[in-house]
Amino acid sequence: KVKESGKHGVAFFKPEYMRELEYRVHLEQELNQAIINGEFEIYYQPIIDISTETELGFEALIRWNHPVRGLVPPDDFIPVTEQTGLIVPIGQWIIKQACSDLALLQIHNPEYFIAINIAPQQLADNAFVHNVRSILASYSLSPAQIHFEITETTLMNADSDNLRVLRELNNLGIKLWIDDFGTGYSSFSYLHKFKFYGIKLDRSFIEGVVDSERSQKIVKGICAMGEALNLELLGEGIEHPGQAEFLLKQGCFKVQGYWYAKPMSLSTLHMWLANRNENPATKMIDQPSA
Ligand code: C2E
Ligand code: MG
Ligand code: MG
Ligand code: MG
Repeated sequence: KVKESGKHGVAFFKPEYMRELEYRVHLEQELNQAIINGEFEIYYQPIIDISTETELGFEALIRWNHPVRGLVPPDDFIPVTEQTGLIVPIGQWIIKQACSDLALLQIHNPEYFIAINIAPQQLADNAFVHNVRSILASYSLSPAQIHFEITETTLMNADSDNLRVLRELNNLGIKLWIDDFGTGYSSFSYLHKFKFYGIKLDRSFIEGVVDSERSQKIVKGICAMGEALNLELLGEGIEHPGQAEFLLKQGCFKVQGYWYAKPMSLSTLHMWLANRNENPATKMIDQPSA
């Protein structure tokens, strides 16, 4: 068993004797079983406001606790769930679980929000808006505390029905973000077609802002445009304090990154939060993830 490239979620851990198609069917069966066995778990990464050094909310990031392979990252199985349509029931479970967890996390602070990644197949599901509404109602959550993240690639391929769904979510009061901003093709066309709440600057741009003048100029440009369009800005993948300093100068206060906190299990997050609130001096020190 060798871990091959997991880029498209099909080559991961493929036993040598299995052909591509066989493996895909095998993985699909395993994913079906994973739903039944409850092998999925949501990790949460804090979203930090660097101007006030406080955590504002959390991004929900799915993990698969595979009985043999251990913790499988989303890039190794989300693509297959999208190709097979399994992302629709799994995505529904994610929203439900994240909302139920948020209700508990709000014990620490009732202002916390949750950010959930939404796949294109979910937007195409006729029951989607209805299901979201009833989940919010069952946990007595305000739609304002729910953020959905849609990638540029999803937006690029969105048809008029998908856009109508986005508009319905917007009208409901859910905040919509463009995820991985700058890596797709649709950023500018969709920015004038649709009122997003904010943009998440992709980690690939943040990586270079300390050393590369080009990265600095690109990030400056995106931040200036975001500000002009009244969009919230969030920098992804902060690993060094210098990156945060640079973003702060550009008016980008919201960040996520290993420097502040890695994604962690719900129980670890509860401890992380309790520790921060008891012990403000440790605030910006990275905590080990679960
Ligand atoms: P994303 O939505 O852009 O999530 C950010 C990814 O960057 C996460 O990877 C996170 O762990 C990682 N990250 C955060 N800070 C840092 C940092 O400082 N350095 C580095 N190197 N990485 C950092 P993760 O959890 O492996 O998720 C990968 C992608 O899988 C996500 O990208 C998202 O597109 C997808 N995904 C994750 N959970 C879900 C889900 O529940 N539903 C759907 N549809 N997609 C999901
Ligand atoms: Mg995301
Ligand atoms: Mg992203
Ligand atoms: Mg991504």
